[in-house]
Parts: sequence; structure tokens; C-alpha cells
Amino acid sequence: MNPSQILMTYFGYDTFRKGQEDIIASILSGRDALAIMPTGAGKSICYQVPAMLLSGITVVISPLISLMQDQVKSLNAAGIHAAFINSSLTENQIAKALSLAAQGTYKIIYVAPERLESSGFMRFAAEADISMVTVDEAHCISQWGQDFRPSYLKIVAFIERLPKRPIVSAFTATATEEVKADIECILRLRNPQVVVTGFDRENLYYSVEYVSGRQKDDFVTDYLDAHPDESGIIYCATRKNVDALYEMLSARGVAVTAYHAGMDNGVRKKNQEDFIYDRRPVIVATNAFGMGIDKSNVRFVIHYNMPQSMENYYQEAGRAGRDGENARCILLFTAQDVMINKFLLEKKEFENMDPADIELVRQRDAHRLHVMEGYCKTTGCLRNYILQYFGEQTDAPCDNCGNCHREYIETDMTDEAKCVINCIAETRGRYGQAVVIGTLIGAKRARLTELGVTAYRSYGALANKKEAELRRLIAQMIEEGYLIQTDGAYSVLQLGEIQALKEENARVIIRAIEERKEEKGESKRKPKRKRSTDSLTAAGYDLFEKLRALRLEIAREEALPPYIIFSDKTLIDMCVKAPENRQEMLAVSGVGENKYLKYGQRFLNEIRAFSAVNPDAVLSIEQEDQPEAEEKETNAGQAWSEEEDRRLAEEFEAGMKIAEIARGHGRTYGAIRARLKKQGMIE
Ligand code: ADP
Ligand code: ZN
Repeated sequence: MNPSQILMTYFGYDTFRKGQEDIIASILSGRDALAIMPTGAGKSICYQVPAMLLSGITVVISPLISLMQDQVKSLNAAGIHAAFINSSLTENQIAKALSLAAQGTYKIIYVAPERLESSGFMRFAAEADISMVTVDEAHCISQWGQDFRPSYLKIVAFIERLPKRPIVSAFTATATEEVKADIECILRLRNPQVVVTGFDRENLYYSVEYVSGRQKDDFVTDYLDAHPDESGIIYCATRKNVDALYEMLSARGVAVTAYHAGMDNGVRKKNQEDFIYDRRPVIVATNAFGMGIDKSNVRFVIHYNMPQSMENYYQEAGRAGRDGENARCILLFTAQDVMINKFLLEKKEFENMDPADIELVRQRDAHRLHVMEGYCKTTGCLRNYILQYFGEQTDAPCDNCGNCHREYIETDMTDEAKCVINCIAETRGRYGQAVVIGTLIGAKRARLTELGVTAYRSYGALANKKEAELRRLIAQMIEEGYLIQTDGAYSVLQLGEIQALKEENARVIIRAIEERKEEKGESKRKPKRKRSTDSLTAAGYDLFEKLRALRLEIAREEALPPYIIFSDKTLIDMCVKAPENRQEMLAVSGVGENKYLKYGQRFLNEIRAFSAVNPDAVLSIEQEDQPEAEEKETNAGQAWSEEEDRRLAEEFEAGMKIAEIARGHGRTYGAIRARLKKQGMIE
């Protein structure tokens, strides 16, 4: 077989993606390889396909147990013999696996880096025919990266001890120039073929939402209400936040679970599985969650708090949309998050570190936090901000992020902010907001005369402003830490950290957000990406739900995560193609020979049963690649009457599913979605 045939037969895909073919060809020619490809780009295929074609075994070094297990399950499901060797197995199990491996049972074995030094493994390696050593998550070898793992340094010695030097291939999603150089040098790659595919993940939609602390919960519940069938992760900065949000959501009946390092191991494991197996598709977690989570159908990642760096953010947000379908990465931002993070960084402890190094790390952390804050505050394209930070060239704004779809009205209120500070200084922080604002606008109230504030210099200093404006300004100044509002019944305003405002280019900017109307139709740019489910009609969506249910049933029988059986994308393609026989089923993207043997018939039966009940059902409509396609489709058939719009809104509010609504209206799933979107009821 050649690589394309392997791809088709085992993985069920008909074409290679960008970069995959080059890497595979170069490996097969005997050359080392270093591939830097974003998450979800398809790195695994790059070593799994050649592993099938090389004469001996491929040893894959991977840092995470769960990742290995997932990969091995997927490979076995595809009919490829693979095993893992790590500390989750007993000594006996390891000995057995190694003896099977020595007999040539497996084409691919995954090992943890620590394992390379163990005598059992060394004995095996000295005898076995190892064709390739693959280093996954290769950035772990560099001390420059975030995830430095000392055990990765042992890989070189391992390779050098082998009787015959194998091909060495290294893969990572995140590599700055320094890290890339480290990988090449420390692993001693020989004239490697280096392939860097873009960092961008087109299917991710980034947005930053300015919401005050109290409104965050509302934002989350609204979002979950509008996206009821989706799986997602909500990251919080602290365990306390995780617990509180989890309580709140489960009280509302959301199928949610939680994860943080303070939980007992057993509970954590169970919660993680509930999430992976889609028993509870939403998880609230601290950043302890996610390493090695390979769940492909995560449709959103919401950050309840701002992370400490872009590196963290990109990695966490990047857990969305690994299946290539559209997904959202939403960051909820308040200025307080910056303060909290500064505080956490100050508290950070350093053990056994040179004071000079500590100072360097502190500076680096402060810089990273600053960059992260910049992301939250920029009014420019968010995607470009990320790409530029990671050293990529960017062109025009992406037209596929929150900022590109938003217009701001910005007002510089720095001078007014200074007046507020003067007023509070002058009145020595004794008054609450009402008095402060009254004083500033020079209100004629008996109460103010009584207090004597009419005699102050600040009295009437902002007479030309409206009260509402000043209220917004003060709220923002509190958020940014310039002012403090005391607790209790007699809450007063006091000065906070006003030093920062004395810097020359310090600004207090009030941003009022105005959503850009989609109807303006002024977008000459790239067409927006669509969800594949949008091509399904209401009937098609019904079938999709049936196939999902079948997948869940099989997943339970086999104790496998549903996405290992088939991805959402594959199920959608099944609805679109509605295969009737083996050959047609094999033409569905993601259905290879082995999966066909295992599951094909059951899915064919389900599709046949569906067609028998709905003989004339049209399951999908052609997706056109023009921006107006959605529009046309919406207007297909009769136009929308006001009456129908009202009914639509009512039905949606009442909790009816989009597919049900579509059926009732005799319209497509995509058309209803588009209409709801237009009405601002969904995103
Ligand atoms: P990475 O390790 O780069 O994050 P994966 O190897 O997990 O990405 O691949 C992400 C997804 O893309 C998987 O579901 C995989 O099956 C799918 N995929 C990989 N290569 C192809 C391809 N050539 N055609 C279609 N899907 C692919
Ligand atoms: Zn953008």
C-alpha cells in the first residue's frame, strides 16, 4: 500500500491535509522530521501512516498517560495494532506488552519518557527492530517552553544506545524560534525536514466580552441556554470559582461537571470521564484540567477569568474544535482579573532558584500578563493579535472574530477621571457615589449644601456631563483599581492605586459597544465559515440525532468515548451522503475499512430505517461557498412574515429545538438558525 491507501483504508480519509504529505514522504525517504502544526491539524497521521509502512516498530514518546491511551484506543478502533507502556500498567502487564512487542505484534508503541531508562524497556529496545522514534509534544524538551519536562532530556541517550539509529521525528503545536532551535539541537536531529504549517485555526471564533464580575454568571447561563446540545469547557482562575459556578449551573439543571486539583483523585477521574463520554457535556474547571484531553467535539471554551499569559490562553482555548468544526473561544474580562493575576504572580513561590533567575522569571511573567491584558483590551482583530504574538505574519483583519464584528464608540475620559480623583481627595473619601457625582456636576440639592460640598473646588467641575456617564466612568475606575468602593450599608468611594494614572500615557477609556449589523452587507471579505450542520435540513438533523444516539449506545457497549467511534463530522457526512451500501459508506469521510467492519452495518441499518419512515425526506442542501448563501436559503420559498418571526421567537423561547421548529415551519434547519441569528436570539 502507499500512504494514500493507508489513509483511506485505516482512517477513512480521502486526502491529506496541508503539510502531512511532505512530512510522510520525507520520513519514508529515511530523513528526520520536525513538524510544527497547530492543534487539530492532524499531527498523529503524520507518524502513524509512515509507521504502517516502515519495516519495524515505531516508538512514540508522549508525556501524558491519557493522551497515549486515547491514541491507542483510536488506533485499535481503526484496526492498527498499538499499545502503550506507562505507569498505569502493572509490572506484569508491562512485561507482557513488551514481549508481544518483541514478537512484532505492534506497529506502534507509546511510551512515557521516564520509561526509556527502565531496564525492561532497554532490554526490549536493544533487541527490537525500531524503525522510528517519534517525539510527541516535542516542546517539552526545551527549558524555554512552559511545559519543560526534564525526562525528555533522556530521549537522546536512549536513541544513541540503540544498535541502529532510527529515523527521528518530532512534533509540536507550539514552538517559538528558541524552542524550535532547542528541539533540533537537543534531539540531535539530522538534517531534518522542517515543516511549519500556519498557527491559525480557522474554525475558532475568538471573542472578548466585557462583563462585570456579577454579570459573568448571567453570561454563562445565557450562553448555555442558547447552545443546549453543545459540549464545552468553562475555565475559572480559582477552585472557589469552579465550585460556585458548578453549584449554580447544576442547580439550573445543566448537565455539568467540575474539575480542579483540590478534588480527590477518584472524583476527578470520574468527572473527567463523564465529560469525555458526553454524559455531562459541560465542565467547569481550573487550568489543571485539559492536559491530554483530546475530546474532539468541544464546541466552546469560555474563560470566566483572564489567564496569565497568551501561551496559556491559546493552549486552553485551543481545546475547542479539534474536529475542525466551528467552535467559539470566549474570554470574559473585567479589569479586576488583571489585579487578581498580579496578586497571584506576586505570591508565586520559587524554590531553589537563583535570585537573579527569579527576577528574570518575574519579569517574564509580568510581560506575559501585560500581553494578555492587551488581548482583552485591543479593539483590533483578535486572531491577528494572537498570530502576531506567536510570530506569524498577518494580513487583513479576519472578519471572523468578536472584534471584527463589533464597532466601538470609544471616549477618552482621562481628564474626567482626574476630576473624580480630585473630588474624592478633596472630600477625603467620606462620601458615596451619589454625593460625589452630585458634587461634580454641581447639582443644586439641599443635601449637598448641608454637607458643605458646594464650597469645594470640585463642585461643578464636570457640570457638562450627564450623571449616567459619570456612573459608568466611576464603575470603570473601580474595576481598574483607581477607586475603591467600601463594603457595607454606608458604602463610600475612596482612592485606590491612582499612581498608575500619573504616568504620561495612562488613559481611562470608556468603550460603548455597538454590535455591527450583519444586514449592512458591507463585508467584502472572506465568506464566513459555516457549520456543517447548517447544510442539513430538519429531516437531516433528525437523522443526525438518531446517528448520535446510536453512537452513544455503541460507545457505552464498548466503553469508548463516542468520538473514537466516529466524529461529529463523520456523522454529518453520513447524513449528507445517506449511504445505502458498503461502498457508499466507505466514501463517507472518517469511515475506514476497519470501522466499517465494526460499525458500518449498524449505521447503515439506522439510515435505512430512517429512510423507510421518511421516504421522501431531503436530508441536506448544497452548501454554496458564497457569503449570501445563507441569505438566499433563508429567503427560499415564501418570505418571512412578521407573524412567522414572532412565532419563531416564541417557540425558541419556549425551549423548542431548532430541528422541531424547522419541521413546524417547513423550513430547513439552516434557515431557522440563520433567522434566529438575525433576530439576535442565537449567535
Ligand atoms: P493534532 O495532534 O495535530 O492536534 P490530530 O492528529 O488529533 O491533531 O487530528 C485532529 C483531527 O483531524 C482528528 O480527528 C483526525 O482524525 C483528523 N484528521 C487528520 N488528518 C486528516 C485528514 N487528512 N483528513 C481528514 N481528517 C483528518
Ligand atoms: Zn478578526
